[in-house]
Amino acid sequence: MHHPALRRSLHGGLPLALAVLLLPLLPLAAFILFPDLFTKYIPFFEKSPPDLEFVQKPEALGLGNNRLELRVHDKGAGIDEITVRAEQQGRSYDLFRQSFPRPKPLNQEVAIDFNPKELGMREDAVRIKASVFDGSFWSNGAEEQFSSRIIYSRPRVEVLTSQHNVSQGGAGLVFYRIISGEIRESGIRVGEKEFIGFPASLLGQEFKSDPAVHFALFGVPKDFKSPPLKMQVFARDIGGNEALAPMYFRVRNVALRSAPIKLTTEFLADKVPELLPKHFAEIGTQPPSNGNSSDPQALSEGFKVINESQRAINDKRIRTALKDTAKERLWEGTFNRAVMGSPTSSYGEQRSYSFNGREISRSSHDGIDLAAVANTVVRAANSGRVVFAEELGIYGNTVLIDHGFGLSTLYGHLSSITVAVGDRVAKDDQIGRSGMTGLAGGDHLHFEVRLQGEPVTPIEWWDTRWIREHIDERILSMAAGSDGL
Ligand SMILES: [Zn+2]
Repeated sequence: MHHPALRRSLHGGLPLALAVLLLPLLPLAAFILFPDLFTKYIPFFEKSPPDLEFVQKPEALGLGNNRLELRVHDKGAGIDEITVRAEQQGRSYDLFRQSFPRPKPLNQEVAIDFNPKELGMREDAVRIKASVFDGSFWSNGAEEQFSSRIIYSRPRVEVLTSQHNVSQGGAGLVFYRIISGEIRESGIRVGEKEFIGFPASLLGQEFKSDPAVHFALFGVPKDFKSPPLKMQVFARDIGGNEALAPMYFRVRNVALRSAPIKLTTEFLADKVPELLPKHFAEIGTQPPSNGNSSDPQALSEGFKVINESQRAINDKRIRTALKDTAKERLWEGTFNRAVMGSPTSSYGEQRSYSFNGREISRSSHDGIDLAAVANTVVRAANSGRVVFAEELGIYGNTVLIDHGFGLSTLYGHLSSITVAVGDRVAKDDQIGRSGMTGLAGGDHLHFEVRLQGEPVTPIEWWDTRWIREHIDERILSMAAGSDGL
């Protein structure tokens, strides 16, 4: 019996089954015919290996926590697996391994914290290897590696100066010797702040015979709350191992003056509309809708932003500019006062600003204000190199002079600047004229002394006796081989 339908199915059945069988092979055929299409446009078939790089390649690893950072990128299929291991004396130590589920990330930043000693690694050479595979059909892989070594012996350091009589908000000088270690950085840590030290050989010929002797100028915070303030000499080696040596010191407490300041509408209306738009332009955001208004509430809020946020931004720029310090002593002897004028506002003054009977903001005075008649010549307090000479927010037109070894002076509210960055200036050279630019209500010079960015009282540096006893004689007696007191 031949049913027509059955015959039809028998006739057409074979090609259909064949087609069904061949269907999955179509991509293969397409791949053979148009390989570029696949590797270029279908991520799963891409053939480019991922990129990877270590953010830093530390030349040594130490006792404490060591951090490795790895940046991985894949253009096509995404990252499938990242592995990092250390190899030493034929042994392999796993530091990191991670697989990524779909959808696979195109970019991945990995931070690996590890302690070689806990992993059982030896104080010896080590190779750090990272490998990455992508999630493509081909599992494209890439590898990156670098050599390092492990250091377990701590450096050693000793303090050479025996007494440190310092004042709250004042400065000091410490000498120390690095006994052992491949030191990357050393200095003195006062509270949280590190003041970096320099080889004493940079101070003069008389120190050349002992390259291990170092010194650091440091500042004592003006606002630290009586003990415990920690001061320690530190030395850190290339593996991050740290030596600490206690330092004997006495801090003379200095009471900080409180200064209530009554803001007037005239002052705010003069300064806020000028400084506030500059602040918002600097941080790259739109000012609030009432930012430029003259209504008392807007003026008061604007003042707060300028006095707090803008002040913090300015301070950061000062610290950045001062990182560029000469590794030589450019200053000599006592610092001068920069202008003929008496102090009108002291260092460390705790300012409370009120407007219409209400406190609206606070700040702490980082310098000394010196009264000046308008456009008085401002002179370099000591010899040095100009590292900043432009307008700076609340400081107005500002000059920063680096005197070497982290010591610097700042001149604010200038009406004009007559020096440029890079200029070498001698003590008493004219650098500009006084004014009232920035957040100044009247013509005066705002003068600061900073040590590695940290403000200290200028009074010590104006004082011939203080400089002699705390700096010059200390250097001389250290050079002569005594402990320098
Ligand atoms: Zn001031």
